Amino acid sequence: MKYLLFTSCALALTFSACGGTNKKTVSVETAQMAPADNPYAKGMVVAANPHAAQAGVEVLRAGGSAVDAAIAVQAVLSLVEPQSSGIAGGAFLVFYDAGTGKVSAYNGREKAPSAIDETLFLGEDGQPLRYFEGIISGRSTGVPGVMAMLDMAHQDHGKLPWADNFEAGIKLAEDGFEVSPRMAMLVEMAGGFALKVQPAALEYFFHEDGSPLKAGDIRDNKLYAESLRALAKNPRAMNEGPIAEAIVAATREEPRPGVLSIADMAAYQPQKTEALCSPYRDYVLCGAMPPSSGGIAVQSIMGQLANFDMKALGPTLDGWHVFAEAGEMAYADRDLFVADPDFVEVPSRALLNPDYLKSRAALISMDSSLKNVKAGDPVDFKPGKDATPDVPGTSHFSIVDKWGNVVSMTTTVESLFGSQRMAGGFMLNNQLTDFSFRARDDAGNLIANRSEAGKRPRSSMAPHIVFHKDGTFAFATGSPGGSSIIAYTAKTMVAMIDWDMSPQDAVNLANVISRNGSVRLEEAGLDPEIITGLEAKGHKVIRSKGEISGLHIIRRNADGSYEGGVDPRREGTAETE
Ligand code: GLU
Repeated sequence: MKYLLFTSCALALTFSACGGTNKKTVSVETAQMAPADNPYAKGMVVAANPHAAQAGVEVLRAGGSAVDAAIAVQAVLSLVEPQSSGIAGGAFLVFYDAGTGKVSAYNGREKAPSAIDETLFLGEDGQPLRYFEGIISGRSTGVPGVMAMLDMAHQDHGKLPWADNFEAGIKLAEDGFEVSPRMAMLVEMAGGFALKVQPAALEYFFHEDGSPLKAGDIRDNKLYAESLRALAKNPRAMNEGPIAEAIVAATREEPRPGVLSIADMAAYQPQKTEALCSPYRDYVLCGAMPPSSGGIAVQSIMGQLANFDMKALGPTLDGWHVFAEAGEMAYADRDLFVADPDFVEVPSRALLNPDYLKSRAALISMDSSLKNVKAGDPVDFKPGKDATPDVPGTSHFSIVDKWGNVVSMTTTVESLFGSQRMAGGFMLNNQLTDFSFRARDDAGNLIANRSEAGKRPRSSMAPHIVFHKDGTFAFATGSPGGSSIIAYTAKTMVAMIDWDMSPQDAVNLANVISRNGSVRLEEAGLDPEIITGLEAKGHKVIRSKGEISGLHIIRRNADGSYEGGVDPRREGTAETE
């Protein structure tokens, strides 16, 4: 991987390793925090669906680790929240090892087939397909990565046998589960889009008369139970054998068949690196590495905000103005520079260099909004500007176990119900539409996030674990929501660190997303004077009736106990072991 690194001391990215006064050694550059010397006796799971949170907690009670619980949560989410994530999707997982203090980033992002090139989403006329045509196609499915990634994390940090973590998912799939209001609403919506196109999906999500599943209907899924049993026996069952063959066959169906092959499936390997960490006031923020832009962009926002007294500003007109301006600049940078680091040089550290971020923050005026924010010049090259949209599906969960290990994981099939195709009782992802459909921007520059064989598309997923500067765990956060994930997640950090909010208040706080020259905000949650004040400063405000964040937070309180924050915009719960 090609990261531009620099010495941590020179840039003050290390706390005590550079001669600070803390007794514990915390090194941002090596993602080395402190071991948990006094973990709380009971763990916690916060996830987007009660069945999933419950399955995770049962695993913790059975002696499982946070990673064991993550496997159980994912196996259930794939069944009860198929619109958001699934075992044939991809994910990023940030893990804090309480025993060693090390923070790792697992990358289970999907990969493009070996037979594609930068014309993947061009039509016969050589022009980019319409975005939705790209989604509803066999071309949009990348090699699934989430289960291979969980297998890798389990080999490192599992305590229960791998197979035990599938029990709740298998039972629920056999017995049937109650369809939730949100799932029912989205099945109905997707029925008017393309969820009825593939016979397997039509049969699963709709009654014989063509009407959609309703909230409260009991839906079983024997095929999914069978897939989970196979997976329980063989962690590579998604990538080899009958399940892999079924996935490939579904991508070869019309319309617009793809070129995913059995060999692509079998070749897939997840990655593990140190987490991407940077300081913010008395805290250290640790997130996922590229190809997610979530770690870089969230930390870019925060690194700019470090130059303002956000505590004094508070959630006022001026506070939101600064937050919006920092977001605009962070998105502009990530649109240019972030893609799969196995293919392009991603200047992660240069983008997070405190001096660079200070120079970006210095552009912000308290009086008026910047117009035409452009990416900065942290390095001496400039790729083309990517304008990939991002349609929200996805789920985030946070888990802490009784040893103090922490999982912060964001997982996705990309759009709602992914590519709208099923195999083995689960949805196929459409992750490859996260590539830029065009290889070059209007100026003719090559776009870093263009599609290439074997490449992983850029993501916005931003699971984070936040530490106190002595290296002890503070909180885990993250969200679904397409490219808005970055703004949603940064909001919770400002709210909890600067505005002294509880995890729940931080989640409830209005979402404010600023990119591409406009500020979209949850109107009902903000004082009208803040909204008109933003307009007076020149912001182009888009009033949103509600966002689709799914922020799921766990914070460690001063007495060592854990406190959850659950997004009321979704259907989740916080469960204590
Ligand atoms: N595919 C998106 C990404 O990886 C996530 C989509 C969503 O959150 O809904 O950034």
